[in-house]
Amino acid sequence: MLVACWVVAAVAFDFGGEKWPGGETEFYFALEGTSGTGRLWNTAFSEALLDWNGATDFNYILRQESRDPCVSDSLNGVDFTEDVCGTEFGEQTLAVTLISTQKQLLGPPKIIEADIVVNQGVPLDIFDGNLQQFGARFDGIDFRRIALHELGHALGLDHELSASAMMAATVSNLDRLTEDDIAGVNTLYGGLANCTVRVLSYGQTTDALTAGDCTVDELTLGNSDDSFIDVYSFELVESTTIQFEMASTGLDSVLILADSKLQYLGFDDKQSGSCSSSLSQTLDPGSYLILANTFDEPVQEACGGTGSYELTVTFSSSGNPDLGNTTSLNGGSSSARFRAGVTADNGSSFGNRFSASDSLDLDVSIDIDPSHVGQAGFLIIAALVDGEILLLNQQGHFVNYTHNSAQLIKATTKVLSATEAFAVLTDFVPAEVGIESIIVDFFVGYGLDSEPAEVYFHQTPLNLIVVP
Ligand SMILES: [Zn+2]
Repeated sequence: MLVACWVVAAVAFDFGGEKWPGGETEFYFALEGTSGTGRLWNTAFSEALLDWNGATDFNYILRQESRDPCVSDSLNGVDFTEDVCGTEFGEQTLAVTLISTQKQLLGPPKIIEADIVVNQGVPLDIFDGNLQQFGARFDGIDFRRIALHELGHALGLDHELSASAMMAATVSNLDRLTEDDIAGVNTLYGGLANCTVRVLSYGQTTDALTAGDCTVDELTLGNSDDSFIDVYSFELVESTTIQFEMASTGLDSVLILADSKLQYLGFDDKQSGSCSSSLSQTLDPGSYLILANTFDEPVQEACGGTGSYELTVTFSSSGNPDLGNTTSLNGGSSSARFRAGVTADNGSSFGNRFSASDSLDLDVSIDIDPSHVGQAGFLIIAALVDGEILLLNQQGHFVNYTHNSAQLIKATTKVLSATEAFAVLTDFVPAEVGIESIIVDFFVGYGLDSEPAEVYFHQTPLNLIVVP
């Protein structure tokens, strides 16, 4: 537990970059009474919370209820007290923020509770501007700026040495947040912006952890873990069981699953003696990150801290996978939505890894852009296999396509309806046509006869892995 306070004279406390996971927390406040100038303490505290919310990416969730700041209950509270929960306030101490932290998987410890006690022995008022004002009559030190300062500690900020900051170690004529304060919050919570976040594809991705990649320190900010890390994002629209395999012969692989705000949900269950790593979890709909990482200190002799890896992602869900945003070959825009999924049980579940003896169905449904409905057009079904592009022809066969072909190969031509449904595979048993193992990325698209070179399609491939 750490203690921070704001005093009339300077006293420095050291902070180590502790922060709230996800960049937000609830704060409980119900301060009774009014200042000498007739303003509510509670209103001033609420304004201070909203000041931090408005100026930074950090988010205080306001809860207007009383919670005892001296009770360790994982709830953040504030009150006027005669001592610091049993210990005397230091001389000239205006207020103290009590912070409890917990170690976590990556990065600095996370804050799990922050409570503020304000010294009730100090005369307080609420006013803007200079602490001493000629001609004005105030009965003490401005409470609003004390609240601002302590709430800065509560979200994880240390004292700022620069005098022009609310987080300076002593109270001053400054009454609002400054650029220094705001930059401090961004330094603490802006780590994801330091790293390239790529959209995850189901199936196989080959990449490497190597010099120039983002490091854990750059991502999490505030510690000294300089191991490399690749960051992938993915969206789930249904409850989904998802499995990650990070295979490598020379890289000591570590997989970490997190939500979109870097709250850690799980990490690899690596088998000893292998450089590879795997992780499986059932997740609710939402936005997630999978982090491909390694150790900053060597753990296994045979494995190092840099090298290539192959990330294989498979899933099983009651619904179709998210196919990402709609895009087009030539930059045209369309509000179309694409739905497609591979099933071996007639639609009870969908996935991307199947056995060669499974009987597979792949049905496609497209909500056509309303401005395209009723026009003469066509559907395109593409399959990417080993870097080759195959397109489905009107006889129902996938045929090789090269980019310099004069004409796209169309799966069907028709006047487009509001919803277009198409069966790409029906009762398809790979083994029956001699396919024992294959990795395919399907894309589905449509176009208009009036612009024959333009195709609207989904950004994320529909992956299928067939294993013996
Ligand atoms: Zn302080």
